[in-house]
Amino acid sequence: MSNVLVIAEHEHGHLRKVNWSVLSFAKKAAAITGGEVIVALLGAGLGDAAKQVAQFDVAKVIVVDDSTLENYLTGEFASAVAGVAENADARIVCTVASLRGKDFMPRVAVKLEAGMISDVMDVMEEDDELLFKRPVWSGKLTEVLQATTDIICATVRHTEFDAMEPTGAGAEIEAGSPDIEGDGAEFVSFDAIISERPELSDANVIIAGGRGMKSREGFAQLEAFADLFGGAVGATRAAVDSGMCPNDWQIGQTGKVVAPDLYFAIAISGAIQHLAGMKGSKTIIAINKDPEAPIFQVADYGLVGDAFKILPELHAAVKAAKG
Ligand SMILES: Cc1cc2nc3c(=O)[nH]c(=O)nc-3n(C[C@H](O)[C@H](O)[C@H](O)COP(=O)(O)OP(=O)(O)OC[C@H]3O[C@@H](n4cnc5c(N)ncnc54)[C@H](O)[C@@H]3O)c2cc1C
Repeated sequence: MSNVLVIAEHEHGHLRKVNWSVLSFAKKAAAITGGEVIVALLGAGLGDAAKQVAQFDVAKVIVVDDSTLENYLTGEFASAVAGVAENADARIVCTVASLRGKDFMPRVAVKLEAGMISDVMDVMEEDDELLFKRPVWSGKLTEVLQATTDIICATVRHTEFDAMEPTGAGAEIEAGSPDIEGDGAEFVSFDAIISERPELSDANVIIAGGRGMKSREGFAQLEAFADLFGGAVGATRAAVDSGMCPNDWQIGQTGKVVAPDLYFAIAISGAIQHLAGMKGSKTIIAINKDPEAPIFQVADYGLVGDAFKILPELHAAVKAAKG
């Protein structure tokens, strides 16, 4: 048992960019376990997605194309993943540390009698032991865990690994047909939030606002600014809780973890629970009227002043620069 099985995340066949970072983790892990990287795609109508994954340097792509998996249900999905893992000689079964990954992977661990490690930031070997690094206390500390079970299930922080580039390798695509058993839940409907903007975890530029943006209208200014970059809009929990924006915009310990190329933190104090979700961003620009705000400690560039004065000026300057 030495392979690393990656469960690729997709939305009705549209693969998320975060998968390519999980592949980098898997490659590193497989170099330690001495196995191969195998990717599993589970859902319905996955032909094109499978071809896309096969372009990466992986040993095999297993496709479980089954109508019972068309709409995500935890029980069915976890049972299918466990079935695939049993046949894949997997030492590590992993996926991205997203809401969905964190939902199904612990159940897979129960089924496989495997250890479960969430939010993995690194994998290494010491004295022939397989070790995993993960954050604790909102990222203030990191702990190193030793794998003591035959199989390890893991969710991986995509922000800690560079995205793997496709090589055009043309990996083998194989059909999988595990037994799929539900847990009694039934799919009723899914109200998708339709947005032209990229998903937060996939965005290269994020414009995030905090309580200091004061209202929905304040956030509308951030949205218009984000559109100049083709970026996504994020928020603090304080902004979400006070109804200025939807809760799927929340970034942080209890929200999404992101690491875009450019992160604007506008009227955000920089509480540790917020930093836990964004401090891996490549360049951070903070705007805050309080020069002592903790956000300036992680910012690459800081503008001290009133966001409602600075933002329109920045907006106009970026627009002019873009022509
Ligand atoms: C268990 C737990 C989990 C949590 N999870 C999260 C999480 O996932 N994400 C998260 O974000 N928080 C989380 N929090 C909440 C977190 O502790 C903070 O309360 C929150 O991040 C603060 O949000 P804020 O920066 O918008 O608000 P505040 O801390 O109130 O800061 C507002 C900032 O705006 C500035 N400001 C005000 N007006 C202007 C202006 N006109 N121009 C410029 N600057 C201005 C102020 O100077 C201030 O720095 C969590 C808390 C707990 C206990």
